[in-house]
Amino acid sequence: MVRGLMHRHVAIIGSGPAGFYCAEALCKADPEIRIDIIDRLPTPYGLVRSGVAPDHAGTKNVWRVFARTAKREQVRFLGNVEVGRDVSVAELESVYDAVVLALGVTEDRKLGVEGEDLPGVYGSRAISAWYNGHPDFEGLDPELRGPGIAVIGNGNVAVDIVRVLSRTPEEMATTDVTDYAMKKIVGSDYTDVHMVGRRGPVQASFTTAELRELGDMRQTVAVVDPAHLPESFSVPDPKQQKKMEKIVDTLREYSTNDPASKPRRLHLRFFSSPVRILGDDHVTGIELMGTRLEGDRAVPTGETTILEVGTVITAIGYLAKPLEGVPVAKWGTCFENQDGHIRDGLWAVGWAKRGPSGVIATNRKDSTEVAERILEALAGVEPKAGARELDALLASRGARVVDFDGWERIDAAEIGAAPEGAPRRKLTSLQAMLKALE
Ligand SMILES: Cc1cc2nc3c(=O)[nH]c(=O)nc-3n(C[C@H](O)[C@H](O)[C@H](O)COP(=O)(O)OP(=O)(O)OC[C@H]3O[C@@H](n4cnc5c(N)ncnc54)[C@H](O)[C@@H]3O)c2cc1C
Repeated sequence: MVRGLMHRHVAIIGSGPAGFYCAEALCKADPEIRIDIIDRLPTPYGLVRSGVAPDHAGTKNVWRVFARTAKREQVRFLGNVEVGRDVSVAELESVYDAVVLALGVTEDRKLGVEGEDLPGVYGSRAISAWYNGHPDFEGLDPELRGPGIAVIGNGNVAVDIVRVLSRTPEEMATTDVTDYAMKKIVGSDYTDVHMVGRRGPVQASFTTAELRELGDMRQTVAVVDPAHLPESFSVPDPKQQKKMEKIVDTLREYSTNDPASKPRRLHLRFFSSPVRILGDDHVTGIELMGTRLEGDRAVPTGETTILEVGTVITAIGYLAKPLEGVPVAKWGTCFENQDGHIRDGLWAVGWAKRGPSGVIATNRKDSTEVAERILEALAGVEPKAGARELDALLASRGARVVDFDGWERIDAAEIGAAPEGAPRRKLTSLQAMLKALE
């Protein structure tokens, strides 16, 4: 028997948290398994590298856990290989015993209002990937036009974006934010950033820790209209009640801030729903409809306000990017699956499985459960050839695969280029990354 055929071969598409947690669980449960983690970028770690805000270095440090998995003897990293371009899902299914989609969901959900296609409107995926140095967005060069910027959404992603847009270079000096983003943020003329939520503070999905950071920025003061804060409220879950009380208390503090105390203001606006983005050849404003709650739903009050903004950023969720031969689920937020099972031999984990929800740690439990199901399904199935055939296929197509050693050389080049105090200066183009390998 050919030696490779004794092992189970699993291909995991995507090297974000879900992919790595799944690989780790598979390795722990089956020391003989062989896993190829494929990523379209030469750099691993998915949104840990390109989504998590640069000033949250502690969160980004989870990469160390994933690097340990990547260095396991059973695991290979195949970077710079895009499924759908260099190899298809069907081809992977034909050579691996199991294929796992861990490729996240990457398309910004649209607001669905008039004016959304005007220059000056961006999605949160684009903006967060831009300041994080994702090569797809190196050339985005967003116009951060004043006098205001509206960020639509009331989750942690919206909070990350308003915070990064409000920080000074000194505050970001110890981060790996891209120089071009900081230059743009500092050189732009906006004085006001508005974070706009459809519902009230008690329904907001950001966390207390993220909200509190907004109260500690050198050049930007956080302000809230006290009329939007409830005198009292109650939610059924006591834990949630405590959390929301802290959030409302923090907002109450911000409502007493003097808007003129710092050069820039961050307005936390609630009960406001965008109905139209204004402008002829560029955004000049956004029309907001006032809302009130009916149960948990926001319903329009009929009162409208116009915010004078030159830029609108939507942070209202993500949709799955279609992939040939894999049906997207009903609302478009993930791939069709039953507890991770798409069809025999094809599985999904992470955001590809359940849509864009949950923090990094959420993916661990989820991926471990799917890994258990994968191994159950593989019991008694004749192993396929796996890596050998993929390597031959990629070689025949002239793919330039970047392995984990290659990534470590890119990593070393980035660390070597870091200004004092910063962890790294990211290489932000594919070309520069591949050059670092020479
Ligand atoms: C802006 C932002 C900030 C966040 N901040 C935090 C935070 O501070 N703390 C926290 O706990 N959570 C945070 N999250 C959530 C967290 O990042 C996710 O829970 C997690 O990354 C989801 O993991 P995943 O592996 O499913 O997807 P991803 O992390 O998106 O990984 C998917 C991987 O698949 C690769 N890929 C995509 N398509 C292909 C293809 N066709 N072929 C090959 N490879 C492909 C991508 O390059 C990527 O590496 C944040 C999310 C966002 C969007």
